[in-house]
Amino acid sequence: MSKKKDIRALTKEQLRDFFVDQGDKAFRGNQVYEWLWQKGAHGFDAMTNLSKATRALLEEHFVINHIRVDQMQRSSDGTIKNAVRLHDGLIVESVLIPTATRTTACVSSQVGCSLDCKFCATARLKRMRNLNADEIYDQVVAIDNESRLYHGHPLSNIVFMGMGEPLMNYNNVIKSIDKITSEEGLGMSPRRITVSTSGVPKIIKKMADDEVRFHLAVSLHSAIDEVRTRIMPFNETFPLKDLREALEYWYEKTERRITYEYVVWDGINDAKKDIDALVRFCSYVPCKVNLIEYNPIDDGEFQQASKKALDAYISALEKRNIVVNVRRSRGKDIDAACGQLANKS
Ligand code: SAH
Repeated sequence: MSKKKDIRALTKEQLRDFFVDQGDKAFRGNQVYEWLWQKGAHGFDAMTNLSKATRALLEEHFVINHIRVDQMQRSSDGTIKNAVRLHDGLIVESVLIPTATRTTACVSSQVGCSLDCKFCATARLKRMRNLNADEIYDQVVAIDNESRLYHGHPLSNIVFMGMGEPLMNYNNVIKSIDKITSEEGLGMSPRRITVSTSGVPKIIKKMADDEVRFHLAVSLHSAIDEVRTRIMPFNETFPLKDLREALEYWYEKTERRITYEYVVWDGINDAKKDIDALVRFCSYVPCKVNLIEYNPIDDGEFQQASKKALDAYISALEKRNIVVNVRRSRGKDIDAACGQLANKS
């Protein structure tokens, strides 16, 4: 790997300082920053309003560690999946999900995942490393370009529901969101961004203290410790009472309701006691529930519950005036649906 510095790790101030140190004008730094972050330049030669000498100077000191979309797959339902190659050769996946009302980018925050959720394909890849903020940002830019190209309009929403646990790479996730929402980046509203977590209580509280303005979704899947630990072993370390306490803190500080993601499986969490526990858990903090369709990842230990079981959940929640949505899967034919991202190709 090159010993030159990744120019994208520099702030605008640092770029301005670099040019001053080189006896040039600070303003040059703004021009380069714009090329990197608004025009998405992948090489110094593309920076056509800089002199040849300036471009050579940059070449001498820096590299641009951009991502490359290695492979793009399109599903029959319009979903697009990108296999994204990072500068060190590792690969992550990101997805574009078009619906009638929105076009959503689903991005990855880690290469692989350190959690061990039994129903998720990404869990089978061990965690290789965290993505840096630029690598996350680049996935969004790549998907935004594809959205314009194939759907004729920019992205409307972003969900951190790809590979990895975003709260275990908190600093980079926050930095990427700062760039996504800044006028010098994509200028998107934080209200259109959702970060999904299996629930790291300490970081949920930190997010509340940091006054983040995006939405929070929690992958709950069971409101009974014993059941949740079986399917999400991580729950042993961060049991439901700690999660509950963190979510109460979040709501107290942000007044923003939480989304619970929930899959109902045959024989695992489809009994009356499971429904009662969820209804109770939903009474702690204002929330809504997204019932996600299960995307089978192999052997059959997990099976989508019957429609009857789903209906029992829906009517129990609605009886308590809890908003519940049923989320149909998209992009299944290209392994792009929730829990299917596993660098198969
Ligand atoms: N680590 C984060 C984000 C990644 S997964 C989190 O846990 O929230 C995004 C969502 O897909 C989570 O709710 C996850 O529980 C769910 N999921 C994982 N595997 C799935 C599968 N096979 N079918 C349906 N949903 C799945």
